[in-house]
Amino acid sequence: MSFHTLGLSKPIIETVTELGYENPTPVQEKVIPHILKGKDIFATAKTGSGKSAAFLLPLFQHINRERDEDKFLHVKVLILVPTRELARQIYTSAQKYGSKLDVKTQLILGGGNIDPQIQALKLGSEIVVATPGRLNDLLKLKALNLTHVEHLVLDEADTMLDMGFLSELDTIFALLNPKRQNLLFSATHSGRVKFFAEKLLTSPKRIDMDEPGSAAENISQIAYLTDREKKLELLSYLIGIKNYSQVLIFSSTRAEVDEIQQELKSAGLKAEVIHGERTHGARHKALNRFKEGEVRILVATDIAARGLDIPELPCVINFDMPQSKEDYIHRIGRTGRAGKSGEAISLLSVDEDDMFRSIERLIKQKILKENFKGYERELVHVKMDKKYQQEQKKQKVKGAFGKSRSKAAAKSKKTTKRDFRYKSEG
Ligand code: AMP
Repeated sequence: MSFHTLGLSKPIIETVTELGYENPTPVQEKVIPHILKGKDIFATAKTGSGKSAAFLLPLFQHINRERDEDKFLHVKVLILVPTRELARQIYTSAQKYGSKLDVKTQLILGGGNIDPQIQALKLGSEIVVATPGRLNDLLKLKALNLTHVEHLVLDEADTMLDMGFLSELDTIFALLNPKRQNLLFSATHSGRVKFFAEKLLTSPKRIDMDEPGSAAENISQIAYLTDREKKLELLSYLIGIKNYSQVLIFSSTRAEVDEIQQELKSAGLKAEVIHGERTHGARHKALNRFKEGEVRILVATDIAARGLDIPELPCVINFDMPQSKEDYIHRIGRTGRAGKSGEAISLLSVDEDDMFRSIERLIKQKILKENFKGYERELVHVKMDKKYQQEQKKQKVKGAFGKSRSKAAAKSKKTTKRDFRYKSEG
């Protein structure tokens, strides 16, 4: 199928042709005709599937038509997203896709000074891309009017709900034109987002690109079975021997992200970091340095798993497992974008086996697990049954000052969980 057959207008087709897009991606094929017809949409689409163009291109076409009917500059399209990174990315895409149509787009996100945003809004805009918190602040200040919004887009709606934005969203919805088109995109289909969609959407066209929660097939996934205390060394070794042009490393805690950066630095590898404790400006700068190829390595918490668009990123490494299994899909979705192949490596310690199994259940796929020579697991999972506890008692040895300590307790100081023991103990 070509872009022509989707019903898009000439200037839009010219734009995508100039960008080198030969054909629409599957989500674009399915979604664009319905959006052009004015239907509500409830779509689950993979990260990196070309989702932004799928809603932006037809919305530009709507704005162009509505412009002829309405001589004043009003906000016609409101795009709400959970994170600043995603907002920035969609804003950039909107400028790219709307270059031939001279559409005025405004970016609204928290973190920085609110005054420049108030000033910019006074000039008028047709598309607003916003995070819900800052948009609410601006609405309280009466800095913008949303009564003319005819198209509402909620991208990564599931994450917005997970992040607790429901009351902000309700306040915003109450201010919109009730006669409008609603487009809801969600990476996964949790019960909550389904309920939310039922309330918001009118006879929506339901589009499931794949089984909800599926990971892209063009990403090869592998897990190296190792111990937590070996991960830092294994990570720098891996990056060293594989010589990736670029790699994105995820860890779920800020402290660990900083620790990884330090370890890589001592191995002679320069890395930028992104996490919630860094200022907005510092995060933006780090991402840009990575995007521009000034640094090869970016280490990030899951806040960066959403909305980063880094074309041709060859590899993602999960230093640990994310707190929520859905985040695994977001993390690895940073590679293998727009049909290119990618590699996702997970460093898996024994305390993460349960989470890994639930990820496999979610993506309905068994992920290849291997040992990495020299970094194999010594800790193994054991069931804390009666027999094992009795065995432990028998193994009691005299510690310093005559205190009794079990061998296992002495050896497993580094793990906080109780149900692991070293392989050598059988
Ligand atoms: P998205 O899922 O919207 O973040 O898009 C992922 C990447 O795919 C971005 O780098 C887009 O520029 C690119 N892209 C979007 N649509 C197409 C297309 N039809 N052909 C090739 N690349 C595309």
